[in-house]
Amino acid sequence: MFNALMLDKQDDRTVASIQSIDESRLASHGGVDVLVRVDFSTLNYKDGLAITGKIPVVRKWPMVPGIDFAGVVETSSHPDYQPGDKVVMNGWGAGETHWGGLAQKARVPGDHLIALPATITTRQAMAVGTAGYTAMLCVQALEKHGVATQDGDVLVTGANGGVGSFAVAILAKRGYRVIASTGRPEEAARLRELGAADIVERATLSEPGKPLQKERWAAAVDCVGSHTLANVCASLRYGGAVAACGLAQGMDLPATVAPFILRGVALLGVDSVYVPRERRVAAWQAIADEVPVATIERVATTITLADAPEAAARLLRGEIKGRVIVDVNA
Ligand code: NDP
Repeated sequence: MFNALMLDKQDDRTVASIQSIDESRLASHGGVDVLVRVDFSTLNYKDGLAITGKIPVVRKWPMVPGIDFAGVVETSSHPDYQPGDKVVMNGWGAGETHWGGLAQKARVPGDHLIALPATITTRQAMAVGTAGYTAMLCVQALEKHGVATQDGDVLVTGANGGVGSFAVAILAKRGYRVIASTGRPEEAARLRELGAADIVERATLSEPGKPLQKERWAAAVDCVGSHTLANVCASLRYGGAVAACGLAQGMDLPATVAPFILRGVALLGVDSVYVPRERRVAAWQAIADEVPVATIERVATTITLADAPEAAARLLRGEIKGRVIVDVNA
């Protein structure tokens, strides 16, 4: 038996409870299964949506939420994994179409796992979590497009969130001048510690704006979507690019084509859930190589499984800064 946070649907409401589950209830995935003893999971924005039921993230009921976890292989029928291996898992529909990481055990297809780089502990991996890994995918997408440090300022929106905090830290470490956009200017000191050179108020970007605005940013990482992303596109420099990964303000994109056809800017979509394995491995290796442990620790707080429902609601209200690690064994 093991403990899991379980989501049930009752009268159209999502109800979360801690349940003791028999291991036999874990799904099997056709001969390449790996059973993982989970050490840590996290709360991501999508987990907040699933746990509160705000948006229909969950596709099957009952569901163990949790889009990521890190732990140790207990048994494996996949040739790449042996008992005792430290592994990390992000996405692939965990917590949406099959049971996820907010539990003491998880059984997943081995191809969904990545061997954890030796220098990162399972706790640190979840301090990074899908947020940090997505931030790295965003930075890699911008650089693959050709963005370089000498091009000018790089904007990060939703900077106090998980993806935003890591995007600020990674870009600053790579030598970019980072401008952090936040609705919580009282956290400016924290953002500067992470590497932000300057702070802009979220409100300056979140209202409807003109199709073309003053050219301000060489590039951007956008966690917010909606009018903010439209305004970012409208204020990118000629040839600039934005890596768009989030929808904290909204899923809409009330923009015009003007920045694309008159300034040649690029809108680079970033998905962490089904991104091919080689890019996942490269992103995790870059995190291990570049992101100092002190930074990883600075952005993280730790809660228990039982704390997760309340923390999920606070996360959606924008009251949590940085990353939330869930110690599933506490
Ligand atoms: P967090 O909740 O940690 O951060 C979101 C941040 O967005 C907040 O901290 C806040 O930053 C800002 N924000 C919140 N509400 C609003 C609003 N109404 N208007 C403008 N800004 C707002 O979430 P994550 O960092 O984990 O994720 C960020 C986004 O990226 C989410 O939308 C998430 O779904 C998405 N995501 C996408 C992935 C992908 O594969 N594409 C993977 C991971 C995340 P501040 O306080 O600084 O203003």
